[in-house]
Amino acid sequence: MQKHHLLFNVKNKQRYSAPLLRHGPVRYRHQRPLKKANGVVMNKLSSAEKVPHALMYIDGKWIDSAEQDEIRSPATEQLVATVAQGSIPLADQAVAAAKKAFDSGVWRTMHPHQRAQILLKAADRLEARSEELAALASAENGMPIRIAGPGVIGVSVDFLRYYARLSSEYEYEVEGPRFGPHESEGIIRREPVGVCAAIVPWNVPLVLGMWKIAPALAVGNSVVVKPDRQAPLTLIEFARELEAAGLPAGVLNIVTGEGAVIGAHLAEHPDVAKIAFTGSTVTGRDVMRRASSTLKRVTLELGGKAPSIVLADANINLAVEGVIYGALAFSGQICESGTRLLLPRILHDEFVDRLVHRISELRIGDPASAETDLGPVFSARQKERILAYIETGKAQGATLRYGGTPLKGGDFEQGHWVQPTIFTNVTSDMTIAREEIFGPVLCVIKYDDIDEAIQIANDSEYGLSAGIWSEDYELALAVARRIQAGTVWINDWHALPPGYPFGGYKQSGVGREAGDSALAQYTEEKFIAVAPPKAPSSSPFVR
Ligand code: NAD
Repeated sequence: MQKHHLLFNVKNKQRYSAPLLRHGPVRYRHQRPLKKANGVVMNKLSSAEKVPHALMYIDGKWIDSAEQDEIRSPATEQLVATVAQGSIPLADQAVAAAKKAFDSGVWRTMHPHQRAQILLKAADRLEARSEELAALASAENGMPIRIAGPGVIGVSVDFLRYYARLSSEYEYEVEGPRFGPHESEGIIRREPVGVCAAIVPWNVPLVLGMWKIAPALAVGNSVVVKPDRQAPLTLIEFARELEAAGLPAGVLNIVTGEGAVIGAHLAEHPDVAKIAFTGSTVTGRDVMRRASSTLKRVTLELGGKAPSIVLADANINLAVEGVIYGALAFSGQICESGTRLLLPRILHDEFVDRLVHRISELRIGDPASAETDLGPVFSARQKERILAYIETGKAQGATLRYGGTPLKGGDFEQGHWVQPTIFTNVTSDMTIAREEIFGPVLCVIKYDDIDEAIQIANDSEYGLSAGIWSEDYELALAVARRIQAGTVWINDWHALPPGYPFGGYKQSGVGREAGDSALAQYTEEKFIAVAPPKAPSSSPFVR
């Protein structure tokens, strides 16, 4: 089966030519003529500086606002773009537009093949802009361009095509077996739930947005998307391509703005039937609580603290490469990163030495350069948070084996830079082993036998993902079966093909995205029972 990696595959080092951030702000759209839709200029230049100004998309119109947010490069702090800032009235307009589109049936009752054609056309359009969008993805959140190309744009296009195909093939109405004394007919219908809200974080917005938008649209729902305030650009571009592909007005809407205001409002909105949220566990709890006021359908994709378990028979060289990829790709700012490294005592010292050596060789720098392995962390806040965890690790007695400080001077004078960091002598009770750091920090924990490794791996409030490094297929599979996590990779990491579910055990989430079962999360099942009209009623009152 073909693999679709969320991120850059270590074995497949593709290169992307992209505008260098250090050579000025990325100009992602105004290289083309400015375009008008319904009389509204979509991307005008920001008046403050010559960078693009992105607008919201509501009811098929591109909407500006008096207030705007600045999107700054995490690597240089240069202004990349400005974005119209949403508000509660605009969020209400977006929900009303989505509801109007849903009630009108313009999308819901369209033939599934026709819906699929529109989604496929949007996928082609995204693919045609791969390089430009990879540069944009990298510019807005600092993801190295080598990851952003195949890992974000390529994966997103694959998912869109996958759900377009499912839209055509989905069994919207099936007949069940006949039942009862009158041989009644049973029909199971699957209908779209209505207005779906998608709340998306900053780290991989296009993929995580796609996991919500594509299945929702495939089966006929309307959607309101709330991207992260500091990383909305790729999702806005996706809306542009859906519009160009022929998606009817109101079916997809994008409202920007502060999560605690706009996101929280959507979670409570009585006309939102379903909420799909990706973000931190703390915010996820708040979303679930708010959604409970109207008993919305809820999917939550939350935090993780994945164990990366090296078994004693593993090929050390390959495992070291895999562990680094699992833990440090995009500086560990991925929910399913393998941030707890479980090493058998007998391999520990040799493994750690090799790990340190290889990590010292990683190229840290401009995320827009095809040569870069590790870029900046997302924000000043994120950097401070990571450094605070490093101090806690030291204070609680872990050994700082590598890194542990911010990078300064030269190319690192501006932006948010933290050295990749390895802690050894970590125990499961330490804060750095329990809490999600969301940064380039790997915690090494020793174990003596496999039962102990599994006990440590499962000793977490999270259960999003895990990985096992071994050459013994049966043993690795036996361990995988005992791990409490929604995804377990054996000799791999970050592989997330469209046909497979993704989601968390325990406090890593509720429900699954990405596989075909995701469609069940965007539909209501209806049982229609048809008794023959002339059959006597089965009411006990009839004598
Ligand atoms: P976050 O929870 O702060 O924000 C996520 C999104 O929610 C943003 O769009 C934000 O604006 C919005 N938001 C903030 N407060 C809200 C509220 N009260 N109500 C509704 N929406 C609100 O998370 P983050 O810091 O942006 O992202 C990092 C977190 O996301 C990490 O914990 C990471 O593990 C998690 N994550 C999980 C997955 C997954 O699939 N499980 C994927 C990526 C990231």
